[in-house]
Amino acid sequence: MGLIRFIIIALIIYLLILIFKRWAANKNPPSSGSQENSTVMVQCKTCKLHVPETEALKKNDEYYCSQEHLEGKQD
Ligand SMILES: [Zn+2]
Repeated sequence: MGLIRFIIIALIIYLLILIFKRWAANKNPPSSGSQENSTVMVQCKTCKLHVPETEALKKNDEYYCSQEHLEGKQD
């Protein structure tokens, strides 16, 4: 009976260590890798709306929120 209790406790400790390792890895991500976590916001030149750079359309070093605004259509 004691053995089963020992295995259960060992399993719980093992799980806690796994969770702690994952938490520690999230807290201190490795410095390697160029992926940026922070999203860069850019402004649409036509309507002045702020959109994430990843979703913005770029043309001649200017950013636009949509294809319509990129093409210069106001309405
Ligand atoms: Zn726009």
